[in-house]
Amino acid sequence: MSIPTPTHPTLDAKPTAADTNTGAGKPSNFLRQIIEADLANGTYAQRQWGGSPGDAAHHAKGQPDSAKIRTRFPPEPNGYLHVGHAKSICLNFGLARDYGGVCHLRFDDTNPEKEDVEYVNSIRDTIKWLGFDWNGSADAEPYHASDYFDFMYRAAEYLIEAGHAYVDEQTVAQIRENRGDFGKPGVDSPYRGRTPAQHLARFREMRDGLHEDGAMVLRAKIDMASPNINLRDPAIYRIRRATHHNTGDKWCIYPMYTYAHPIEDALEQITHSICTLEFEDQRPFYDWLLERLIEGNLLAAPPPRQYEFARLNLTYVITSKRKLAQLVYDHKVQGWDDPRMPTIVGLRRRGYTPESLQLFAERIGVTKSDSWIDYSTLEGCLREDLELKAHRGFAVLNPVKLVLTNWDDVMGAGHLEPCTQPALPNPPAGVEPPPRRHFSIGKEVWIDREDFEEVPPKGYKRLVPPSVDASGKAVPGSKVRLKGGYVIECTGCSKDANGAITEVLATVVPDTKSGTPGSETIKVKAAITWVGAANGRQAEVRMYDRLFVDAQPDAGAKDFIESLNPNSLKVITAIVEPSLANAKAGQQFQFERHGYFVADRVDHVQGSKPVFNLAVGLKDSWGK
Ligand code: ATP
Ligand code: MG
Repeated sequence: MSIPTPTHPTLDAKPTAADTNTGAGKPSNFLRQIIEADLANGTYAQRQWGGSPGDAAHHAKGQPDSAKIRTRFPPEPNGYLHVGHAKSICLNFGLARDYGGVCHLRFDDTNPEKEDVEYVNSIRDTIKWLGFDWNGSADAEPYHASDYFDFMYRAAEYLIEAGHAYVDEQTVAQIRENRGDFGKPGVDSPYRGRTPAQHLARFREMRDGLHEDGAMVLRAKIDMASPNINLRDPAIYRIRRATHHNTGDKWCIYPMYTYAHPIEDALEQITHSICTLEFEDQRPFYDWLLERLIEGNLLAAPPPRQYEFARLNLTYVITSKRKLAQLVYDHKVQGWDDPRMPTIVGLRRRGYTPESLQLFAERIGVTKSDSWIDYSTLEGCLREDLELKAHRGFAVLNPVKLVLTNWDDVMGAGHLEPCTQPALPNPPAGVEPPPRRHFSIGKEVWIDREDFEEVPPKGYKRLVPPSVDASGKAVPGSKVRLKGGYVIECTGCSKDANGAITEVLATVVPDTKSGTPGSETIKVKAAITWVGAANGRQAEVRMYDRLFVDAQPDAGAKDFIESLNPNSLKVITAIVEPSLANAKAGQQFQFERHGYFVADRVDHVQGSKPVFNLAVGLKDSWGK
């Protein structure tokens, strides 16, 4: 039997890196060690691949599998992927890439409700964006667990006939009661002892819609006294009248997840089935089921093996799809892709790059025990990636006008002097000429309000007006460099009726333009960023902060809504240099001295203003 795949000419494995089977250069971890041992021992070397998922007979007719290993990422299409999924994606796709294997994308759509094309499309886009192809080629279709319903049904009939499964007509409450608990063995169902033929007849009645939802279930027949409660005859099929997005009304019985998942893995010839720790207790059933179906020649040997790793817990972040959905539906954020959301679409809109998320996944590694990763680790990875890539630019976030009172006299009335600065301090080799930014300076420029202090705190090195010291001696105003422009000397400021500063005043020191001979003769203690009033542009800048004030917002019984940060978004109007005014949607920049910002992908322009999102500050501020 082969499972129909809605696809392309061939789904034969084309390993993405057939010649690298060592994973060289990557830090090792227990999963890499397992895979390396399996490759060395030839555990999976004899496997055949039938070109698509299928049963034992289908794969027996195939070719030796050119994929050295097969892993899978099996999302349920009931929400947007989040940073925890990014860890799982980078892990599964990364292992397949590094060991000459193939990673499958499989939509786990055995649950008839909640499927939504919006989620399906977003999951596909997200994985591509992260840099991965599924199922062995760039244009392959993902697999769907619901394509395996026919096989799952056939396998269930086999289990019944072989005496490994039975229909239980106890009520839900009786089943729960008779399951026992840690200290108490379970009690056999009175229906357990019927003949396979009786169970098979009942099971077919279930399939044919002769019984009410919940009236009976199919259970595996294992051991009601097992110390592992998951082996006390787990339910494997239930009656549920629901229309399925793929199979419509064909079925009124649906497989349980614990039954479906191992079968999905086996039909796809997965070698290493990697999941999170909460499935550890399910592993004995996973192995039991596949052994039975291999005995019955329904599935090819050797079976996939399940390995568990610790899920990602990130401080200040929630990674439950249900809770993230609540934030969206209760309008606590502006959507799934709100830049404060830990969804991958949110992180992308915030300015995260695929490389930064891959780096993050690599850096946190995989372990077998749960722990919390500090949010600053994620931010550090973005900073590290953008440091090399993001073009620099000047932006004034809290603008105040600076007037160069002698400009017209020394430079000429209305004169604008062109200035230039490198777009990248360390341009990558081969980019010739290195990119540069161009802007101009004139009589008026915008500076950050924080760069002027009438009464400076100790150690302050920026603009300070002239003063008289304690001994009555006149102290001249400070000299600073307008970075990439001229040295200026502060002469004072103007104020409005309320005493608020309206303008900072200074004089320009002629012949000090950056990059001209002799410009360094006047030493200054500071250089400040600025934007010329003549060609600066207003921009909307969205200053994001952490979404929660509590490092573990949903730990224990806490209501995470109560720890929402009321100040997680502040919108300001900044002045940016011309090179930033023409940013392309999604382009990242370093606003010098301020941090990394991204031109918003969604509303890239508001009115006539370009829109930028704060991605991450220049320095780690989480400890403060
Ligand atoms: P949620 O609880 O948010 O709904 P889920 O585990 O139900 O998440 P699925 O779509 O079923 O989400 O998960 C797809 C894959 O992603 C699974 O293999 C799961 O192990 C993995 N995954 C989900 N959350 C995390 C996480 N926080 N860290 C690592 N892997 C994760
Ligand atoms: Mg799930």
